[in-house]
Amino acid sequence: MKYRTAIEIRNAIEAGEITALEVVEYYLAKIKVEDKAINAFLETFDESALESARKIDAMKKAGEALPRLAGVPVAIKDNMTIKGQISSCSSKILENHRASYDATVVKRLKVAGAIIIGRTNCDEFAMGSSNETSFWGAVHNPWNLKKVPGGSSGGSAAAVSAGFVPIALGSDTGGSIRQPAALCGITGMKPTYGRVSRYGLIALASSLDQIGPIAHTAQDCALVLEVIEGIDEKDSTSLELDEKVVPELIEKNFKGMTFGVPREYFIDGMDEEVRKSVEEAIELIKQNGGEIKKISLPLTDYALAAYYIIQPAEASSNLARFDGIRYGTRAQTDNLWKSYLHARGDGFGAETKRRIMLGTYILSAGYYDAYYKKALAVKTEIFNDFKKAFEQVDVIVCPTSPAVAWDIGEKFNDPIAMYLADIFTVSANIAGIPGISVPCGENNGLPIGLQFLGASMQDGKILRAASAYQSLTDWHQKDPK
Ligand code: GLN
Repeated sequence: MKYRTAIEIRNAIEAGEITALEVVEYYLAKIKVEDKAINAFLETFDESALESARKIDAMKKAGEALPRLAGVPVAIKDNMTIKGQISSCSSKILENHRASYDATVVKRLKVAGAIIIGRTNCDEFAMGSSNETSFWGAVHNPWNLKKVPGGSSGGSAAAVSAGFVPIALGSDTGGSIRQPAALCGITGMKPTYGRVSRYGLIALASSLDQIGPIAHTAQDCALVLEVIEGIDEKDSTSLELDEKVVPELIEKNFKGMTFGVPREYFIDGMDEEVRKSVEEAIELIKQNGGEIKKISLPLTDYALAAYYIIQPAEASSNLARFDGIRYGTRAQTDNLWKSYLHARGDGFGAETKRRIMLGTYILSAGYYDAYYKKALAVKTEIFNDFKKAFEQVDVIVCPTSPAVAWDIGEKFNDPIAMYLADIFTVSANIAGIPGISVPCGENNGLPIGLQFLGASMQDGKILRAASAYQSLTDWHQKDPK
């Protein structure tokens, strides 16, 4: 198929060059054959997808105005609810959990004419950076099947990268949209905390979680964000927007913009090719009218530590509901205590148990002050760090991940090495600010990601920076072989 992005597909359907049915049939057939090697999808919704496509085609035939995402197939990470479908968070404990309602994002996508084509594999309860902790097996990176796709939204990223779907939704608690986007050579955005409703997102760490788009281009991310963003009465942390994103109004130049380069994001031990590609990208921005300023984010060193306190603490609390009674598979026993032990012991994987134990410890009476309270204090300071930085610059530019995709299995038994993969992404979640990753190079045939971070609610600015960068480069046009 000659159409690759959501915008191209929608315009082609509107122009009558292709029908929505042809689009959906094309993607379903491709997934059926090629996903055997990648494992990005846990399930495709063939019947309902074809049915929705027919409805779009009928609208077109009747001469009705087509909505913003008419006929565009979208994949949903398995931690968001789709009415009537299983949402398992890639965990055994929820393998039979069928959602009784649509997440707000899913509802808004449907209203905008998008076709929900399937649900994607992820790390169990979105805990991970490699998509290896899924009960349904690892996802393979389309650029090299021996490599991880990143995580936790690895299935969504791999699906877009492999050309199985033009758009996918992911969730980002500490980097789970941006890092897999970087490792799979595509574009992924974490909006400002509160910009997109979390209603129907099965919570990992509620104060950090945010849903966002994964696509080939920043323009497509803007289009999806326009559809899903905005206040929602069902999520009290969702925010009223002063200004909505309007994809057509996003400028594609760096004129008048100042870019901050934080010295703490270029560290010893990072991949030299990553450093080189990011430096080249910064040079390109400079040559094309962007002003570059060296800045410092002194608290960067503490971000990972604070994240791995706050996140397991909230996770242990959120995951208490999976007890085999309210949610999860009920164990056959006459003893309540044993019933909990079986449901949770058999239902959760090792990483989930590790985080529940860590979180429970952190929140326990004797340690709450020493760990959790301290981490919250660091959170405030990190927020202030960024606030100061954004008084001097419009956008921060830095790497997304210190390394390209690694071998499946390589870090699986070394949680600390795995946690270090999030070193450049977690700060944005802690501060609640928006970030986007775009492809900016390659090392040994594996993609490298460039990250733009913006001040709170300045999502339009990072979309502009990313769009401008993509108008000058063609990394985002490359597909894995
Ligand atoms: N990799 C991070 C973690 O394991 C981030 C996860 C996420 O963003 N969902 O917690």
